[in-house]
Amino acid sequence: MTTTTNSCAALIVAGGSGQRFGSPIPKQYLDLAGKPVIRHAVEAFLNHPDIGRVRVVADPAHAAYLRAALEGLDIGNPIDGGATRQDSVLRGLDALAREGDVQRVLIHDAARPLIDADTITRVCRALDEGPAAIAAVRVTDTLKRGDRGRVDGTVSRDGLWRAQTPQGFHFGPLHSAHRAAAGQAMTDDAALAEGAGIPVLLIPGNEDNLKVTTEDDLRRAERLLASPSPVDVRVGNGYDVHRFGPGDHVMLCGVAIPHDQGLEGHSDADVGLHALTDALLGAIGAGDIGQHFPPSDPRWRGAESDQFLKHAVELVQARGGQITHVDVTLICERPKIGPVRSRMAERIAAILGLAVDRVSVKATTSERLGFTGRGEGIAAQATATVVMQTGARP
Ligand code: MG
Repeated sequence: MTTTTNSCAALIVAGGSGQRFGSPIPKQYLDLAGKPVIRHAVEAFLNHPDIGRVRVVADPAHAAYLRAALEGLDIGNPIDGGATRQDSVLRGLDALAREGDVQRVLIHDAARPLIDADTITRVCRALDEGPAAIAAVRVTDTLKRGDRGRVDGTVSRDGLWRAQTPQGFHFGPLHSAHRAAAGQAMTDDAALAEGAGIPVLLIPGNEDNLKVTTEDDLRRAERLLASPSPVDVRVGNGYDVHRFGPGDHVMLCGVAIPHDQGLEGHSDADVGLHALTDALLGAIGAGDIGQHFPPSDPRWRGAESDQFLKHAVELVQARGGQITHVDVTLICERPKIGPVRSRMAERIAAILGLAVDRVSVKATTSERLGFTGRGEGIAAQATATVVMQTGARP
């Protein structure tokens, strides 16, 4: 990704006076689930890692509403909007150009409060592929042309998309297109880009990213915000066995326990941490411990197994996962686990960066049955629960 946080700016356009809305207060300043509509939109961009700065263009007649709505947010000075949306955007672009160091800009309607982080990401990253990209959703309803309550014909929906915002652009070409087209009244910036011959990519938007135009829209946005985001929970399991051999201690769950035998293995043979590492890898579908740390690799001879577990934790985090709970069961007749169980849980909690009440270590015998019952080795099984981040909204 070549987008840098310094060079990609977001311009939130709140120019409209909202005549279509039955309220004396412009729609973008109305309350939506506890904060103004515009604040939802501005915060989505301020909180996004790909966006370096956020600026707002608004009707100067609404300055008091704007100040109240965005109090405490880092948006610089509001930019005074013009007579039309197009004029307002041009003024915003002029202001960004004066600030300097802007390579890319995302333009977003203040009246789209449900914009999600994933859509912002997709539009930002599409600007690596071309000079312009807009969020849009395919038209799926059958379209009718009609007049005075009667259908005049059916319009093919083939190739039809509904344009949303954000619309993203390489800054220079868009600014030039806007200056050249000043005085027209285009309803979106992509139309100006198209007019200037700039290719525009269609990026899948989100049906929930609605524009609050009517009171029904505001109620629908409220319902969407009230519905819980789907939670993506992954559960992985792991299993491992190591055979007893000569030695004077065993490593179990990161704790050395004096014993009249040791465990054989290419690393420190910590069967508990190995099972747990596999459980974490399983939760994110990232293979198994043997793939990441081949037994044939001399680097891992005698290695402490913490590093295998730490590596799995890093992989989980890199994929946006949060470990919420792990459970390890050790299966052996000896040594006795009870006296060291809480130390094991503390050790695992420290490696995983978890509160100790999110870590369970248990032990059982196998009633003298099987290889663990005969004292030939120790087995361990583990379960890990991982919650994947799905963004503010899916
Ligand atoms: Mg192992």
